[in-house]
Amino acid sequence: MQERQSTNAQEYIDLEDRYGAHNYHPLPVVLEKGEGVYVWDVDGKKYFDFLSAYSAVNQGHCHPKIIKALNDQSQLLTLTSRAFYNNVLGQYEKYMAEYFKFDMILPMNTGAEAVETAVKIARRWAYQKKRIPENQAQIVVCKNNFHGRTTTVISFSNDEDAKKNFGPFTSGFIQVPYSDVQALEQVIKENPNVAAFLVEPIQGEAGVNVPADGFLAEARALCDTYNVLMICDEIQTGIARTGKLLATCGNCTCPNRDCSNTPEVKPDLLILGKAISGGVYPVSAVLANKPIMEVITPGSHGSTFGGNPVAAKVAMAALDVVKEERLAENADKLGNLFRSLMQDYIAQSKVVRLVRGKGLLNAVVINDSPESDTAWNICMRLRDNGLLAKPTHGNIIRFAPPLVMTEAELRECVAIIVKTLREFE
Ligand SMILES: *Cc1c(COP(=O)(O)O)cnc(C)c1O
Repeated sequence: MQERQSTNAQEYIDLEDRYGAHNYHPLPVVLEKGEGVYVWDVDGKKYFDFLSAYSAVNQGHCHPKIIKALNDQSQLLTLTSRAFYNNVLGQYEKYMAEYFKFDMILPMNTGAEAVETAVKIARRWAYQKKRIPENQAQIVVCKNNFHGRTTTVISFSNDEDAKKNFGPFTSGFIQVPYSDVQALEQVIKENPNVAAFLVEPIQGEAGVNVPADGFLAEARALCDTYNVLMICDEIQTGIARTGKLLATCGNCTCPNRDCSNTPEVKPDLLILGKAISGGVYPVSAVLANKPIMEVITPGSHGSTFGGNPVAAKVAMAALDVVKEERLAENADKLGNLFRSLMQDYIAQSKVVRLVRGKGLLNAVVINDSPESDTAWNICMRLRDNGLLAKPTHGNIIRFAPPLVMTEAELRECVAIIVKTLREFE
């Protein structure tokens, strides 16, 4: 099915195919340049990026302020390891603590590492503070979760492609259906060894599953009642993506949509990654208040690159951009417009079943089986028409452009999407 690309593009594809492990199945397009909401391929064709590197590039490709921070710091000092202090890390830690309103941060690099870190903190807290007998701690997770690719993290996934022949797995995890408060309560009630509940405020990889209204608040209340830590993985939903600074922020109309006085829920452990660097550098973090974070002691956890000076400067610049350019407000406004324009089309469509999402994290469900290649074919045609998106779980297409998009650009994009879908009616 894979049509051949221009000779130029095909050479790059052949190189990856020959020398790289086949752990992805990319859409056949070879990119060489990005700026704002656009990317260009090696033949000079321009596209709207509607994936944003899985919501890492919320601030747009190669944002000048973030690139400047990268360039400036990379000429001064790149890595000291944590064997010594440096003049950037403390400033970064203070910045992050104040920005997200937690006492402390533990800096890491990738998302999966930050999830691992949160699991370790929760387990230590369980033994040292909750007094669960050692090695008995359980962490409740949700069905169809996605939290990364390390051995422990896939241990609590139910995605066969991600798990098959990678066992034995890490024990100590219990799965409940997503957005099911009763199931969560039953597990927590029956099991005094539950240390934490780990949840994505919206399940991005699973196909942009938005939980029922009130689910997160009810889960928070349960965690409070039973002395269970609530861990929110906002690696994909955070940093203005869903129209609020964090998906767990309360509803308000301030430019940052981060009304900290009225968060919908405040997790005990907040996991961030992806867009905290604007997609410029691998930066992740776990944030918590002191009574929890203090269980981490010298020698108990670490990372050679975690919190390095380049990462720290890049992340501060990237998070400045989120506020300066009011990205949460823009994502909120454009997200409402996107869903309402798509809804108008879907009302008379046989190809698309529904659109769902919050802010600029959206997906359409294609009216065909998950085994069909309709969604893939639509993405190929979208590519031909100048817009890049990728199917997830067969018949779902995620639409998540950079948050620096303008209303005119969004309308142009919806026109491309609608025109493309019409070709499949
Ligand atoms: C992407 C993602 C991760 C993993 O991040 P990596 O940087 O790829 O390790 C974890 N959780 C969620 C919700 C994600 O979207």
